Amino acid sequence: MISFEKSIAAYKEAVKLMPGGVNSPVRAYKNVDMTPIFIERGKNQNLYDIDGNAYIDYVLSWGPLILGHADDEVIKALKDTIDKGTSFGAPTLLENKIAELVQKFVPSMEMMRMVSSGTEATMSAVRLARGYTKRDKIVKFIGCYHGHSDSLLVDAGSGLATFDINTSPGVPKNVALETLTVPYNDEAAITDLFKRHGDEIAGVIVEPVAGNMGFVPAKKSFLQTLRDLTTKYGSVLIFDEVMSGFRCDMRGAQHLYDIKPDLTTLGKVIGGGLPVGTFGGKREIMKNITPDGKVYHAGTLSGNPLAMMAGIKTLEQLNQETYDQMSAKLDRLCTALQAAADKNGVTFTIRHRGTMWGYFFNKGPVENFADVQKSDKDYFTRFFQYVIQRGIYLAPSPYETSFISTKHTDADIDKTIEVFSDAFANVEK
Ligand SMILES: *Cc1c(COP(=O)(O)O)cnc(C)c1O
Repeated sequence: MISFEKSIAAYKEAVKLMPGGVNSPVRAYKNVDMTPIFIERGKNQNLYDIDGNAYIDYVLSWGPLILGHADDEVIKALKDTIDKGTSFGAPTLLENKIAELVQKFVPSMEMMRMVSSGTEATMSAVRLARGYTKRDKIVKFIGCYHGHSDSLLVDAGSGLATFDINTSPGVPKNVALETLTVPYNDEAAITDLFKRHGDEIAGVIVEPVAGNMGFVPAKKSFLQTLRDLTTKYGSVLIFDEVMSGFRCDMRGAQHLYDIKPDLTTLGKVIGGGLPVGTFGGKREIMKNITPDGKVYHAGTLSGNPLAMMAGIKTLEQLNQETYDQMSAKLDRLCTALQAAADKNGVTFTIRHRGTMWGYFFNKGPVENFADVQKSDKDYFTRFFQYVIQRGIYLAPSPYETSFISTKHTDADIDKTIEVFSDAFANVEK
């Protein structure tokens, strides 16, 4: 059994300074009856906490670190860049370079704007959809999370699902009323909604591979229905690929499903561990952004040179071969874990796409938030406590996705299979 003594002491100080002792709620271990583990450093696939414990990390800063922690090339480039200054508030060549790189992966982004978080990217994309269509209503899907701007905090996933909050207090009622929600993967519900409100709908925002209610890929026919309806009614289709971008497929869900959205939002991997988000898409829509148009968007640190460099050096190292290797590792992992659960009589559903994976403690298929909520939360808590004490670092919530990096080895996969198998055999059902 490992000790968390120093983390527990640090947490006692932190709760006096920050709500929940953390700067983002999903980091709190409230949900798993523990206190957060304070991290000292990370290298490649491993995390090390302040008590000296080592972990195989499947959270990877909640997705961004596709090359693992402190990748040598990223760190070297950051050191060279920082010597030239940290921010100029004026254009740099790095911004052209990352935009060109992004277009290679996501050609539907004919123009784009860099921002400093996924939240800013989705908030700006929603404003743009409203400004472009001159309509107010936005459609989102129950259990999808699109950051913490007012319009998008209705029936959302991630921390809101973890802590059982429908709409955050503080979101004005009139703002919440402009956000219409329907179940994920439900073609009949969205078709019906468009029949009733189609002419008022500015845009539909969706995680084309949902990762914030646990891992729930969309059905192709569902995404095709969204494409057809938004085209028919003149609404903007926004794929929020902040998580799925560079993850479920090197070229994002829009390539995986072969469906082109009007606007795309990216974040996480594109910043290589620094604060970055992007929104972009059709030129005809993007040219409504200030100063070309009147839909306002700005940011003091947007396009920050350090953030751009971390993104460039991350994207430059991605190729089909590394994706195929990561995907093959996850294939082996998921197959073995399902078999181990079956053998031990644990009800378990596990899936992966590209470099994302996720599991539920209920019988599949898991296709929407109602299915997700049937996962056994108490078992998850006992299971989580068991595996974290044996060096497997997972998200402390049943509503999150797990990831893999280029640095995870076959030996890591073996160790993970061993620990999960022991958990299935030994954790009280
Ligand atoms: C993480 C996430 C966001 C928010 O990004 P932040 O950088 O945390 O603001 C938005 N959309 C999706 C799909 C995400 O996974």
